[in-house]
Amino acid sequence: MRGTGLMRVDAVVIGSGAGGGVAAAVLAEAGKHVLVLERGRDLTFEEIGRDHLRNHRLTRYPHRSGPDYEDGPRVVVDATGGEKVVRPHEPGFHGNATLVGGGTRLYGAQAWRFLPADFTMASTYGVPAGSSLADWPIGYDDLEPYYERAEWEIGVCGDHAAGSRHWRRARPYPMSPLPEGLQAAALRRGAAALGWDVLPVPLLINSVPYGGRAACTRCQHCVGFACPADAKNGSHNTVLSRALATGRARLLPEAVAERLECDPSGRVTGVRWVDRSGARHVAEAEVVICAAGAIETARLLQNSPTRREPHGLGNNHDQVGRHLQGHAYAWALGEMDEPVHDGLGPGVSLATLDFVHYNDGVIGGAMLADEFTVLPLAFWARNLPPGLPRWGARNKQYMRDNYRRVMRVGGPVQEIPNPEARTRLDPQVRDRWGIPVARLSGATHPESLRTGDFIAGRAREWLLASGARRAWAARAPLTLHAGQHQSGTCRMGDDERTSVVDRWGRVHGHDNLYVADASVHVTNGGVNPVLTVMALAFRTAERLCADW
Ligand SMILES: Cc1cc2nc3c(=O)[nH]c(=O)nc-3n(C[C@H](O)[C@H](O)[C@H](O)COP(=O)(O)OP(=O)(O)OC[C@H]3O[C@@H](n4cnc5c(N)ncnc54)[C@H](O)[C@@H]3O)c2cc1C
Ligand code: SF4
Repeated sequence: MRGTGLMRVDAVVIGSGAGGGVAAAVLAEAGKHVLVLERGRDLTFEEIGRDHLRNHRLTRYPHRSGPDYEDGPRVVVDATGGEKVVRPHEPGFHGNATLVGGGTRLYGAQAWRFLPADFTMASTYGVPAGSSLADWPIGYDDLEPYYERAEWEIGVCGDHAAGSRHWRRARPYPMSPLPEGLQAAALRRGAAALGWDVLPVPLLINSVPYGGRAACTRCQHCVGFACPADAKNGSHNTVLSRALATGRARLLPEAVAERLECDPSGRVTGVRWVDRSGARHVAEAEVVICAAGAIETARLLQNSPTRREPHGLGNNHDQVGRHLQGHAYAWALGEMDEPVHDGLGPGVSLATLDFVHYNDGVIGGAMLADEFTVLPLAFWARNLPPGLPRWGARNKQYMRDNYRRVMRVGGPVQEIPNPEARTRLDPQVRDRWGIPVARLSGATHPESLRTGDFIAGRAREWLLASGARRAWAARAPLTLHAGQHQSGTCRMGDDERTSVVDRWGRVHGHDNLYVADASVHVTNGGVNPVLTVMALAFRTAERLCADW
């Protein structure tokens, strides 16, 4: 081992994304000395770029916002037991952005609160055979003050009156919604005809100057790209900046946490990490907070075996890495008579929450909304009608005539967790630093797809009522959906036989080891998850400081 630099801090936070950024700010502002280890690079807007081929919206080629092509693959096991080595940009890798800010640097910034019934899925619907559907140990009311904190401290624009129809909310959003575009005008028409309730999509975007930064300039490249106006609010330009401003936090990019160090009593003593050159270092700490994202946090715990826990920290009940979930998206596309794309970002604008819960004959549901401004390449890959050739003159003519007319409506279907959907350490394949890579296997529960079919049907109905001359929908396959919305691998619970962390995010059996990312989600909601990651991280870090 080269270069065994040793440092001592109060807390090490692993990962600078949605959860890690919040944890770092709360701890540093409470007077703690914090080291943030971030595997990815600290990239400028120019370095991330606006390349239509290499970006996080349509991953087909190695992209600049990480993980790097050379960092290492994952191994994916299919339903027949067949194994495939998958590179970061290939379908099935199930990656999120790997750079300072994590997913929040590039995300679409939809800022949904989970609905109250999202926390009580098992008691609301019963537990389908073969699933691990469960209630959370906490409810919406426990999280409500922290949702509010995330909305104000990170910055969300939205409509308080419309939101109050769905969530008990004490305080309005700090900013009013962005102006609506042509998609919203058409969808409002359809919703009125159907009698559906709609609301503007809440976004972690400045609709007016906020937090010392400018308002959105409505460029076309929002989701999957960095923001040219610095108006999209993520960890990198809010909570991480706050943590660094205290003078007590240090951020180390290109620093990969390899394993957690633990003494014989089970007390975590620090983190062994690797720098870009491959040199190993140890950071000693009073407290360690894992926020590396659902797949990498599980991998890190599994890669830290001890005599007491030979399968990794917190893993004596074989729970770390199970219940891996994300969102099986359900969609429909409609061909409108009039143009519905005006070229103004971010694009996504209007939603309905009428189908997130209590739909006859299915379990859970999804929020439905229109789509972000779509890249021409993504339009070609995903938005063409069935039967149209994918190349040639007919294809080009259709693209020319309809790029501005085809509208996509869809939403994140709440997955029914499956204990066999999981991430483990691969026994053979190692990454560029010699660490065993994640081995992903299993699929979402079939119930998620039944719900998906129902949701795609509602999307189609909405498009037709909005004036589409024809509409079509696709079926999601029975596979793993653990990419950008990955969650669930260290689920929260009171019973250590069925969960990994307690209701405060602390790993069972380890007083000073916490998880503050999407891993802790018991279920992943029928809406996008990031505001819940942030709210939980505020709650976990606040409690940790109060107890410390
Ligand atoms: C293009 C895109 C669009 C999205 N749009 C939305 C949206 O509109 N709404 C929404 O709710 N969500 C959206 N998401 C998802 C959202 O970003 C995630 O839900 C959220 O970021 C998850 O937070 P996290 O803290 O669990 O992980 P992350 O934000 O992924 O943070 C984990 C961090 O840990 C780092 N890391 C990993 N391993 C290590 C290691 N061993 N050592 C050190 N560091 C490590 C990673 O590089 C990363 O920075 C989007 C994501 C992407 C990429
Ligand atoms: S639409 Fe463009 S300017 Fe507005 S938040 Fe998104 S990236 Fe930034």
